[in-house]
Amino acid sequence: MEEYLDEPIFKKIGQIADEMGVSAYVIGGFVRDIFLMRPSKDIDIVVLGSGIDFAEQVGRSLKTQVAFFKNFGTAMLRYEDMEVEFVGARKESYRANSRKPIVEDGTLDDDQKRRDFSINAMALCLNKEHFGELTDPFGGMEDLENRLIRTPLDARETFSDDPLRMMRAIRFASQLNFRIDQAAIDAIVSNKERIAIVSKERITDELNKIILSPIPSVGFNYLFDTGLLHIIFPQMAELYGVELINGRGHKDNFYHTLEVLDNIALQTNDLWLRWAAILHDIAKPATKRFEAKQGWTFHGHEDRGARMVPKIFGQLKLPLNEKMKLVQKLVLLHLRPIVLAQDVVTDSAVRRLLFDAGEDIEGLMMLCHADVTTKNEYKKKRYRQNFELVQQKLKDVEERDQIRNWQPPITGKDIMLTFGLAEGKEVGIIKNQIREAILEGEIRNEREEALRFMIEKGVALGLKVVDDTH
Ligand code: ATP
Repeated sequence: MEEYLDEPIFKKIGQIADEMGVSAYVIGGFVRDIFLMRPSKDIDIVVLGSGIDFAEQVGRSLKTQVAFFKNFGTAMLRYEDMEVEFVGARKESYRANSRKPIVEDGTLDDDQKRRDFSINAMALCLNKEHFGELTDPFGGMEDLENRLIRTPLDARETFSDDPLRMMRAIRFASQLNFRIDQAAIDAIVSNKERIAIVSKERITDELNKIILSPIPSVGFNYLFDTGLLHIIFPQMAELYGVELINGRGHKDNFYHTLEVLDNIALQTNDLWLRWAAILHDIAKPATKRFEAKQGWTFHGHEDRGARMVPKIFGQLKLPLNEKMKLVQKLVLLHLRPIVLAQDVVTDSAVRRLLFDAGEDIEGLMMLCHADVTTKNEYKKKRYRQNFELVQQKLKDVEERDQIRNWQPPITGKDIMLTFGLAEGKEVGIIKNQIREAILEGEIRNEREEALRFMIEKGVALGLKVVDDTH
């Protein structure tokens, strides 16, 4: 294993451990990631003794500042581009109402037992005599080979002690595309209610990691099948299911949403675009109707869905800022390009889409592309071709009319000065008429034409030009 520990810092830490007469190991995620060939810069060191004293010594030797977290008995330093955390080996015991354990000093074995999964419990020794030796008491290597998430001890106890581990299990399965051991799945099912003692922020942190994984549906399927999703994000679980009336069904919106999410994950790593995919049909259950002629309809689900976004963001402690507004906008507009692609694509429709989407047009187009999940190859091809056409038109209109960050070529002030008006209804009417004329393509998005148009419309309203120098 030595070749994996070629950063000089590992030898240095081993040397200090020898000098202080203690044992030191690199443990956890860093070791796991060596074998997954995912080089990591986060290094966790466990020492059989005081983590604080040891870190102090390492800091002195490397001439680097150390941050101490005395309450947790941990210390951290940055060295080059690495973040190294130190902790003394510990034994943990839990009480029922808290995920904070009672902690006492322990052996390496005790410390490995308190780790969440076998693949996260492997340790490599740093002392000279045993440098690079692997201690893997729970078969972590084998589980890596079998692509399996398994707890070192009894799964029910592991998850009951710290219910955040249920989210972590699913998050690792999703990030690595691993299976979760059946005993662990069963233990999540029986402990799922205990997720209530975990803070919303931590749950959402894990949820976001699931969303950012290469195939997010892996994690969401586990969340749904174990019942955790129903507790942490019930609106999404409600998308599940197909109702039949007169033999007519609709598509299962839960699995459709997962497909859209996986599709968009192929195109972008942007968390918020992925959130827009999750939420694009969120109001379908609330707007579902069966109509004798049309069958199942979801009228207005885009509008209702956009209005649900702030509540969901609040509930999940996601930021209530411009990111939320972006998601809201994409949910609201998600049908527009499709409708456009099905119809004759007119310049004015494209201009209106650009006007409404502004800077977020690329994100919106990505979402709509991902939303085409039909299994009918003919339909799929037709949609995609029409999309190309919309894309091309968007480009043409953008080059010609610059609508994306549209600023009116005529301001309210221009209108007031030209007609000698105070602020009032007429100014608004004329401004609207100018905007509509530009979007409809009646006049170009340009000052001279807009001025002429403004005067014409003002006169038609019975106004008199008092100053035509604007
Ligand atoms: P990542 O960096 O992708 O989050 P990681 O495994 O490094 O992965 P950390 O949260 O940094 O994750 O945790 C470091 C190590 O600490 C883990 O590998 C695991 O051994 C242990 N650990 C972290 N959280 C828990 C927990 N809730 N219960 C038990 N062990 C944990």
